[in-house]
Amino acid sequence: MALREIIILPDKQLRLISKPVAEVTTEIRKLADDMFESMYDAPGIGLAAIQVAEPVRLITMDLVRKEGNGKSEPRAFINPEIISASDEMNVYEEGCLSIPEYYADVERPARVRIRFTDLDGNVKEEDADGLFATCIQHEIDHLNGVLFIDHLSMLKRRMVVKKFEKAAKHGIKYV
Ligand code: ZN
Repeated sequence: MALREIIILPDKQLRLISKPVAEVTTEIRKLADDMFESMYDAPGIGLAAIQVAEPVRLITMDLVRKEGNGKSEPRAFINPEIISASDEMNVYEEGCLSIPEYYADVERPARVRIRFTDLDGNVKEEDADGLFATCIQHEIDHLNGVLFIDHLSMLKRRMVVKKFEKAAKHGIKYV
């Protein structure tokens, strides 16, 4: 396993549309391992491959592990897609490892049904609600070059982008 650098706003790669994974190879499993290590190190609960500059449709997630609680539930989602979403909406305060130290309320469908391939190459369907629903939608957005700030008002989004552009210009890194 290797720690990968997580790219941050305004890095243009965050706007790329990631490519589907054709086959679950050793390389993909190794990338997932690296992503878990980088995600735990950050620390964060979800990571899309593009956040470590790999434009492939792979997501890692662990909604259980917290500093020192001894629990963990690492999950990987390959080529995940939302096949249905509830009309009912939910608001969660979201953050993103690629937009450090910025948090905002985002409204999304409260429940979604997803289809994905796991690391053993099995195609699965699963219902997600609560934090899982929010997190998987946030990460699937990344695969489509969409960031959570895109769900905010234009004014809020511009303020955040400007802040990070300024920081990049002055060589400041929010990590
Ligand atoms: Zn994110």
